[in-house]
Amino acid sequence: MIGQRDTVSGAHFAFTDRWSGVSAAPYEELNLGGAVGDDPEAVRTNRELAAKSLGLDPALVVWMNQVHGPDAAVVDAPWGEKPVPEVDAIVTVRRGLALAVLTADCTPVLLADPVAGVVAAAHAGRPGMVAGVVPAAVRAMMELGADPSRIVVRTGPAVCGRCYEVPEAMRAEVSALEPAAHAETSWGTPAVDVTAGVHAQLERLGVRDRAQSPVCTLESGDHFSYRRDRTTGRLAGYVWLD
Ligand SMILES: [Zn+2]
Repeated sequence: MIGQRDTVSGAHFAFTDRWSGVSAAPYEELNLGGAVGDDPEAVRTNRELAAKSLGLDPALVVWMNQVHGPDAAVVDAPWGEKPVPEVDAIVTVRRGLALAVLTADCTPVLLADPVAGVVAAAHAGRPGMVAGVVPAAVRAMMELGADPSRIVVRTGPAVCGRCYEVPEAMRAEVSALEPAAHAETSWGTPAVDVTAGVHAQLERLGVRDRAQSPVCTLESGDHFSYRRDRTTGRLAGYVWLD
């Protein structure tokens, strides 16, 4: 259910694993993604189960319509009847409102400035990392009073740089923009390390209080991996303030 969780000065960070939900194969068990072909009723139940295990009201969890883009949106209430915006980062100052990000190999990024009372969730795959979605989230937080020196970051389970094989030209293109993402697979071919790229971007912005999940989704049987399984579920990361 909840694979990793911690709290820093009233800011809560949590990442799910794939177990203790109700979805059938190939989404077993805790698929939290609504656009992957799973039974919508099962997804709704899973979202309720995950929220309850975190002590959250499922109605106060805000999801995104993720499109691998660079944009961030400020949110102060659940979307309700409004269309869910196509963004890959959301930011809030509303206490008790949980921000959620869906992934299966991409890097989920949770950010909080507990002093300013600002949190953000971002979805950074290779295109989003290159496009700067995480710096966009930090800038949006700063506009709401956050200071990079106080921002605490957790990056969650994601495909690691030793597993994320890409064509040589793609690695060259990505590393030209973010050298830290340059990687090689464990079998010696070109690769990209998206999480390393995200951490390098944060370091340059002065965000130093960071931690990275040791889990590689492709290597872990307890996590969903799009690259491994193609048709599969989605994990979620949640961030919120007391
Ligand atoms: Zn790996």
